[in-house]
Amino acid sequence: MELFNPTEEHSHLRKSVRQFVQSEVEPQAARFDKEERFNLELFKRLGELGLLGITVPESFGGSGMDATAVVIAHEELSASDPGFCLAYLAHTLLCANNIAVNGSQEQKQRWLPKLCSGEWVGAMGMSEPQAGTDVLAMTTSSSKSKDGYSISGRKMWITNGAIDENRTPCDCLLFYAKSDQHKSDSKHISTFVVERGAKGFSVGQKIEGKLGMRASNTAEMCFDNCLLPIENRLGDEGDSLIHMMRNLEIERLGLAAMSLGIARRSLDIMINYSKERQAFGKKLAQFGQIQAHIADSYAEYQAARCYVYNTARELNLTKPGSRLDSDGVKLIASPMAKRIADRAIQTLGGYGYVAEYVVERLWRDSKLLEIGGGTIEAHQKNITRDLTSSHS
Ligand SMILES: Cc1cc2nc3c(=O)[nH]c(=O)nc-3n(C[C@H](O)[C@H](O)[C@H](O)COP(=O)(O)OP(=O)(O)OC[C@H]3O[C@@H](n4cnc5c(N)ncnc54)[C@H](O)[C@@H]3O)c2cc1C
Repeated sequence: MELFNPTEEHSHLRKSVRQFVQSEVEPQAARFDKEERFNLELFKRLGELGLLGITVPESFGGSGMDATAVVIAHEELSASDPGFCLAYLAHTLLCANNIAVNGSQEQKQRWLPKLCSGEWVGAMGMSEPQAGTDVLAMTTSSSKSKDGYSISGRKMWITNGAIDENRTPCDCLLFYAKSDQHKSDSKHISTFVVERGAKGFSVGQKIEGKLGMRASNTAEMCFDNCLLPIENRLGDEGDSLIHMMRNLEIERLGLAAMSLGIARRSLDIMINYSKERQAFGKKLAQFGQIQAHIADSYAEYQAARCYVYNTARELNLTKPGSRLDSDGVKLIASPMAKRIADRAIQTLGGYGYVAEYVVERLWRDSKLLEIGGGTIEAHQKNITRDLTSSHS
């Protein structure tokens, strides 16, 4: 079995995303990074290509594909524009896939067609100003009354939270909140969806000056006694730990796939440059230290690639069960991408340090993958906890 393109459908997907990347993503990537702007128009094109609801069943407007397809799309987009790909991931995996897996039929019918077509931009709010890794310390609260829920609190670092420079909120934010009535139980968490225009829901700050992933918007989202009807709650009240954990698996796999794209592109650039550039009357590729950069990068990329695609093959989108390896792939792939982008800069010397040769942008973008969706330290903690508790 071909691990990287197991079916005709996967090969076709890779080919079509790669073509789209060459013709439409690559030409704009440097500009949107420099201007620190999200390309909303291009994002909507992903809807036309059927990529925005890649895992969503066709009956709700999606493409009904599997975790391997998710890896392919993220690897290909990220090989050109990881910032744009992060916006894609937040919409597709954190919001749309989460609703597809955890929503009721009515909720899926209400939200998914607009998210899949690109009419709406979606986001997901889990992190808070005082609670990132320690997610159960979240304080955003939901207070139940006969009319529904009143939500108060703030979510921080939300990709796609604002869709433009005017702090216009995303069309739809899936988020987690604790029940006021069960404050002592840190695991009593519920999932809600809020739409733009809901009273008491707004963008706080749009976060500027990011090191990388500058082509995606990041924002703080505020809830000030925001009233939501009961129909906007996904699943049962207080039962959402499972939503969070299940969705983190596909999120981490998607982020690991982004690392593969960064690594592959950096390697390509490094190889091509080393074949052309001369020093001391030889090509750079003839120097042992440059060979070490290239060969180590190639082997590390291939090892991570096999682990990521094998984990994708086993990951079931509707059931948890890949927690250990979704942490594992991100732990191995994100530092690998940063290391290979770093070696590419080193191989290009001064030229690697400037925007024209792309690798400096990939290097800046790669750093986020060691933080977002779980830090390296969180993966180390989770993996060790799982291995020691299950090991007998
Ligand atoms: C550009 C960007 C986009 C993001 N997008 C989203 C999004 O769309 N939605 C969302 O909900 N969140 C998003 N995040 C938030 C991201 O998931 C968090 O930043 C991340 O989980 C880390 O949380 P923190 O920043 O609060 O750091 P902290 O949790 O405060 O961690 C700080 C440091 O302490 C370490 N640490 C913490 N606890 C432990 C421990 N027990 N053992 C060892 N070390 C520990 C961490 O590993 C880290 O090195 C985004 C972040 C960024 C920067």
